[in-house]
Amino acid sequence: MVRRVIVMTHPSPSAPGQEIARAGSQHSLTGPAENFTGRVRVDPVWPATEIFNTSGGLVTFEPGARSAWHTHPAGQRLVVRSGLGLTQEWGKPVQEIRPGDVVWCPPGVKHWHGAAPFTALVHLAVTGTVNGRNVDWMEKVSDEQYNQR
Ligand code: MN
Repeated sequence: MVRRVIVMTHPSPSAPGQEIARAGSQHSLTGPAENFTGRVRVDPVWPATEIFNTSGGLVTFEPGARSAWHTHPAGQRLVVRSGLGLTQEWGKPVQEIRPGDVVWCPPGVKHWHGAAPFTALVHLAVTGTVNGRNVDWMEKVSDEQYNQR
């Protein structure tokens, strides 16, 4: 009698394995002037892919800096990491956001986010993608809108 023992110590060689994106392997980007007011840096964290269709980016706003008004076709979560921020949904009051706060921006809801006037903001933006698109930009946030609190 022959006993056959099959020991599988490795997955199929064609199965994709774990990946580690090393710190410093992605360039920092400047938030473009047509979509942001003030100095904004975007550090890409992970890209959206077909199987994980949501991107992550760490966004640093200098004091007074903010996004333009915009919507997200699949929504967005903002995780505040440091500083003090402001966000506003169209037609509603400006709200302060602080480290540890998590903001949900539903699909298609017009809004902006940025730093407080005298304090920088860092947030992680986790943004879903529809047909390769994750944001639709609109007009800039005026100083009057920004300072309405
Ligand atoms: Mn947004």
